[in-house]
Amino acid sequence: MRQVAIQLTSTRDDQRSTTQERAFDQCPSRVAAFGVGQRLIHLIFLGTRSFEIGVGMFPDRLTQGYQSFLGGRFQSERQRYETLAERGQKPEILIFGCVDSRVSPEVIFDAAPGELLVVRNVANLVPPYEPDREFQHGTSAALEFGVQALRVKHIVVLGHALCGGIRAFADEMEPLSPGDFIGRWMSQIEPAARGLGPRTPGDDLVYRQRLEFASVELSLRNLMTFPCVQILVARGKLRLHGAYFGVSSGRLLVRDPETGTFEPVDEGKASPLAMLRCEEEG
Ligand SMILES: [Zn+2]
Repeated sequence: MRQVAIQLTSTRDDQRSTTQERAFDQCPSRVAAFGVGQRLIHLIFLGTRSFEIGVGMFPDRLTQGYQSFLGGRFQSERQRYETLAERGQKPEILIFGCVDSRVSPEVIFDAAPGELLVVRNVANLVPPYEPDREFQHGTSAALEFGVQALRVKHIVVLGHALCGGIRAFADEMEPLSPGDFIGRWMSQIEPAARGLGPRTPGDDLVYRQRLEFASVELSLRNLMTFPCVQILVARGKLRLHGAYFGVSSGRLLVRDPETGTFEPVDEGKASPLAMLRCEEEG
C-alpha cells in the first residue's frame, strides 16, 4: 500500500503543530477539518515522514480524469479560466439540483466554467426562510451568496426522474443510519405530499413522479419566503424557474409560469436517436 507524507505548515507555533500531527495520527480522516479556519495543510508526497491513510488514496479515475481535463478542456478554455481568476465569477444562473450523480447541471446545460452557480443537495430542496433556526442553513447560505453577493438573474430548481430522496420519503424507507439525516431532510416536503392528497394503491411510480414535481413547486414557494428573493423578484431583477430532467430520456421539462405545468423545452438540434428515446420518464 502506498503511503502519503503530510507536512503541516504551522502558522502559529510548533506545539500546536505537534498536537495536530498527533491527532492526525489517531484519525487521518480529520485532515480536512484542520484546514478550516485554523491551519494551512499541505499534502506532499515526500517519503520521509509517512502517515498511512488506508483507503484514502486518490482514486485513479479522478487522476486520469484530471489529466484529461488538463490537456483538453483546460487548454481550450484557459483564457476563460484566467479571466475568471482575475475578475472573479459572475454567473447569472443559480441552480438547485439533486446530488444524484446522473443529474449534473453543468453536463445537462453544457455549461462553461463560471456560468452556473450550482447548489446540490438530496432531492434539490430549498428550505423556507428560517433565520432563527440553528442548523441546516447550508442551502440558504448558498442562496444568500448567489442572490446577495453575485446578484444572479435566474434561479432554477431542477427536479429529476427516479429521485432517491423522493422515493425515501414516499416509500417511508428505513433510516440508513441512527441519525436519519435523509429522513429528517426529506421531511421538509411534507407540505408537498399533503397537497397531493391520499395515495392510490399500486400507483407508486406515478405518485413518486407527482411528488418530484410537487417538491419543485414547494421549493419555488420556499424561495419566495426569503426577503431578498421577494424584493428582487418584485423589482424584475430575479426570475424563478422550475425544471425536471428525465434521466434515461434526456428530456428536459420546464415549468410554464402561467399554468404551472411542466412542458418539454425546445430540443433544438437534438439528434434523431435522442428524440427516439424520449418516451420514458417525465
Ligand atoms: Zn434526486
